[in-house]
Amino acid sequence: MKKTICTFAALLVAILFLNNKTDEGMFPLSELKNVDLQKVGLKMQPIDLYNPNGISLIDAIVRVGGCTGSFISEDGLIITNHHCAFSFVAAISDTTHDYINNGYLAKNRNEEAQAKGLVCKITACYEDVSSKVLQGTQSNYDPLQRLGIIASNIRKITDEENNLNKDLQCEVSEMFTGRTYVLFRYKLLKDVRLVYVPARSIGEYGGEKDNWVWPRHSGDFAILRAYVSPEGKASEFAINNVPYKPIKHLKVNPKGVKENDFVFVLGYPGRTFRHQPAAFYKYHEQYMLKYISELYDWQIEKMEEMSKGDRTLQIKYSSKIKSLANVTKNYKGKLQGFRRSKLTKQKVEDENNLQTFINSEDNLKKQYGGVIHRINVVYDDIINYAPRNLWYDQIYSIAPVLNIAATIDNYRKVYYSLKTDTERSNFKDKQWQRIKNAVYAQTAKFDETFEKSAIEKMMEDASTFNTENEIKAVSNFRRKVKDNASLKAKIMKMYAKTKLKDANYITKLVNEDLEKLFKVNDDLMKFATELNTELNFHDEEDKKREGELNQLMAKYVDAKSLFKQKQFIPDANATLRFTYGTVKGYYPNDTDYNQPFTTLKGVIEKEDGIDYELLQIVKDLYASRDYGSLMHPDLGDLPINFLYNLDTTGGNSGSPVMNAYGELIGVNFDRAYTATINDYAWNESYSRSVGCDIRYILWVIQKVAKADYLIEEMGVKL
Ligand code: ASP
Repeated sequence: MKKTICTFAALLVAILFLNNKTDEGMFPLSELKNVDLQKVGLKMQPIDLYNPNGISLIDAIVRVGGCTGSFISEDGLIITNHHCAFSFVAAISDTTHDYINNGYLAKNRNEEAQAKGLVCKITACYEDVSSKVLQGTQSNYDPLQRLGIIASNIRKITDEENNLNKDLQCEVSEMFTGRTYVLFRYKLLKDVRLVYVPARSIGEYGGEKDNWVWPRHSGDFAILRAYVSPEGKASEFAINNVPYKPIKHLKVNPKGVKENDFVFVLGYPGRTFRHQPAAFYKYHEQYMLKYISELYDWQIEKMEEMSKGDRTLQIKYSSKIKSLANVTKNYKGKLQGFRRSKLTKQKVEDENNLQTFINSEDNLKKQYGGVIHRINVVYDDIINYAPRNLWYDQIYSIAPVLNIAATIDNYRKVYYSLKTDTERSNFKDKQWQRIKNAVYAQTAKFDETFEKSAIEKMMEDASTFNTENEIKAVSNFRRKVKDNASLKAKIMKMYAKTKLKDANYITKLVNEDLEKLFKVNDDLMKFATELNTELNFHDEEDKKREGELNQLMAKYVDAKSLFKQKQFIPDANATLRFTYGTVKGYYPNDTDYNQPFTTLKGVIEKEDGIDYELLQIVKDLYASRDYGSLMHPDLGDLPINFLYNLDTTGGNSGSPVMNAYGELIGVNFDRAYTATINDYAWNESYSRSVGCDIRYILWVIQKVAKADYLIEEMGVKL
């Protein structure tokens, strides 16, 4: 298959002095030409790493849902993380088929199970479209209009592109707020199947206790396979689909790496916030991180309490708890990082220096003089309304029934604003599928008992807000309520009476009778309508702030790059990035040096039968010390996980870690606790990412799963 070749316009973002690893570095492909790759340690030709006009290593990298993966065989085998495949394993598990605990292994291709809903993407090419996106905004100073113009330009570009080439999906990504936009074209793979997912006691050894922790001993990997139609086109699951033939797959090197070796990662890091104004860090440190981590802790506790002794419910909650726990611990790590590095204070000082620089010249003053002040005014507002807005942001994800009610309310408002029958019937034609999708997505999450407790908690929280943050719908709901007990009773009654919690009823209505659905008007619908109207009103205010920041941030970054005499690497935004560095230990605190490798001995030592449970076969294999060529030559043991000073974040999960020759030697899956802060500020002293060593992966596949056919398919000789 030939790779699509696009015209590459030069990006506006140019990066200078990049060849020593003292700074952040999630380089977009467009910036690779500015890194002296061979000087930093690459031993392959840079053109074989990234060749915009031909085949190169980047063609083997694939976005796996919100994670990353890489092709490791010519028959579409993908390696990613166990935690990236987890929800798909949970979806096919029940008490009799407990693949979560026991793992899943397809002994042949017929047994590969569908990872329902998982879509993989491969970056085909990209193009700078900043001028097209910003067209018409230069003279437009109304923040809302500006946002509207940008959104409609983006829609126009993607619609045109998607019509032009139906085989590729196009997305415009914002590289710098209000300033730089790039169009990415992706090849999609919609039929992805589970091949091997290790037992939880391997893939998630140490569970939450060890998440975001070093030393680590987890076999966090999974093997999937992508399928396409017999004609080679993206296709939903179909029995006659055939394995996808990637134009490039990685060579798996069973020798791994050792301390101080050069390594690099290609992947899809999700989100970083390195170019924000000081007030943004204040908001995150003092409000957002704290609020979310506490709310998620509450949810986890509640679900654990409700599912105690009930394996069916435990399986149902497993994915949700896992993702909430992942976030809350990460946020606590970030809060520790904020405290330790005094990041917010540092950002304020940096910004004061920037202001002094701006004030030093009339020209600069004229262009940028008021920018920081205006940004602060916007953030004063954001901080002022933080309790209310954070609450709004969470209410619909914590309460799916309420979410459905709000969705119905939004659509019916538009529907009843239409005057003629033709308009209404056009609306139905156009929107029905969307309404159905929105409703299905929520009914799948229904859990009345949990939702009632969550609503009660959210209402109690809201009653502690000051008057500026008052949530009127909640105040009205509580009006005649004397105490918490009667609040609870009123919520119970509202849920007992509503039919919106009945997934079958709601599915029937949304399929058969949209008008009847729009006419539902029970107490829950009334409450949701009031809340939704209020929320939409404040949403509008939020958008105005966003529009203003969009304009201000473009200037802010311009001024900052003039001040620092350099341009910056754009924050991570789920587009393909390169990062490099070395395998390296570190000091997480003032005394303990942490080595960069853990071993099977450490796995065995950790076992306690509570937080760390082991399969008998792993213990038996350890007893025989049968590692063959997979043994780490210096450690005399099987390496499990390793540390490196690369710049990674969420979304880099499952990214291939490669040696200087571009061979696969590990799979990235996490960061040390001290590195969770690097979403805001990367630093060589505390930023360490964690990968699963290829030697452990191959050992598990061969000795534990006894799936030699996979090793063979990868072309590895052990
Ligand atoms: N564990 C993360 C993820 O899920 C990886 C990271 O944030 O470093 O993507």
